[in-house]
Amino acid sequence: SDGILLYCRPGFEKECLAEVVETAAESGCFGWANPDMNSGFVVFETTPTPKVIERLPELVFARDAWAISARLADLDERDRLTPIIETVARILKDAGIRQVGDVSCEYAEGEQYRPTARFAGKFVHPVRQALRRSGSLTPKTRPDLPALRLFFKDSSQVLIGVDRPDGRAAWPMGIARLKFPAGAPSRSTLKLEEAFSVFLGPQWRDRLQNSHTGVDLGASPGGWTWQLVNQGMHVYAIDNGPMDETLMATTQVDHQQADGFIWKPDRYVDWVVCDMVEKPARVAFLMYEWLHERHARYAMFNLKLPMRKRFAQWQEIREFLESRIAQEHPKAELRAKHLYHDREEITVYLDLKNQNG
Ligand code: SAM
Repeated sequence: SDGILLYCRPGFEKECLAEVVETAAESGCFGWANPDMNSGFVVFETTPTPKVIERLPELVFARDAWAISARLADLDERDRLTPIIETVARILKDAGIRQVGDVSCEYAEGEQYRPTARFAGKFVHPVRQALRRSGSLTPKTRPDLPALRLFFKDSSQVLIGVDRPDGRAAWPMGIARLKFPAGAPSRSTLKLEEAFSVFLGPQWRDRLQNSHTGVDLGASPGGWTWQLVNQGMHVYAIDNGPMDETLMATTQVDHQQADGFIWKPDRYVDWVVCDMVEKPARVAFLMYEWLHERHARYAMFNLKLPMRKRFAQWQEIREFLESRIAQEHPKAELRAKHLYHDREEITVYLDLKNQNG
C-alpha cells in the first residue's frame, strides 16, 4: 500500500501528475496514477524512495503531499475507529515513532466530495481522543513532530500516512485559511499574503522589516500594493488603471501611469512584485532582468498559464531561469507554487542573492 497522495487545485490533476512523474523519475522512481478529473487529488502509485519524499515540497502543482503507509477500505460505519487506531499503532511501531504531534482528517476539494469533507471535519475529534488515550498523540499539538494524516476518499475508505515536519505545507492540504483584510482594495491581496507566507515562512512579517521600498507592476486597483504598504514600504505602483483612493491617501504610494515592461526605478528597491496579465515567458524574463540589473533585490510574480500545455509552459520557463541562474547567480533561490489563491496561474519567488546592496 505504498504510494504518494498529492493535493492540487481541482482541474490541475494532469499537471500535478506530470510533475510528480518527472520529479520521481529523476531519482529513479517510477509509478502511475489514474486521477479523477476535478477531484483535487492524485494518488501516485509508486514505492517512493527517501529522495523523492524529500523533494515533494518542491512540486509546484502539488499544494501538499505525503507518503501513504496504509489504505483501509470497507470501513464499518458502526466502528470505523478501531481498525484505524490499530493500523496507526502498527505504522508508528514500524516507523519507530513513539508519538505524533498532530492529526488531521483530510478530504478532496472537488465538488463531489463535499459530504466527505463534512464527515472528515467531525471525525477528527474521536480520532484525536482515541490516540491521546493510547498515548500516541501528544497532549498538546507539537508542530515539530511528525503528524498523522488521514485522507478520506469517502467515509468508508481512508489512506493513512505520517508526514515529515520539514516537508509539510504551510496549511494542511495546502488550503490557505486567510481572512480578507479590512481595507484591502481587491481579493487578489490574499495571493501576495499567501505567497509571502509560503516562500518566506510564517514569520514573513519580521523578514520584511528591513524592506523599505517596493515596485508593483500591474498594480491597479492595489491589492498587492496594499500588502507592501501595510508592511511599511514606500511603493511605486505602475499601471494605467486607477489606484484605490484610501490606499493613495496613505501617501506611501507613488502611482505612475506607465508600461510595466519599460518603467524602471531610479534607485535599487527591495521588492518588485508583478501581477500583469501577460505572456508568462515575457514576465519571467522581465523579472530576471530586474534582479540581474539590480533594480530590485527580491521578486515575487505571477505567471498566467495558458489553457493548454500548462505544465510544459512552466517547464520551459523554469529551464530558462535555471540556466541563467547556473551561469550568473549560482547561489540564487528560485521557488514556485500553485497557491491556493491562484487560479490559472502560479506564483514565483526569486532572490539572486546579489551581494553588496
Ligand atoms: N495585483 C492587482 C491587485 O492586487 O489589485 C491586480 C492586478 S490585475 C490582475 C492586472 C493589472 O495589470 C491590470 O490592472 C492591468 O492594467 C495591468 N497591466 C497589464 N499589462 C500592463 C503593462 N504592460 N504595464 C502596466 N500594467 C499592466
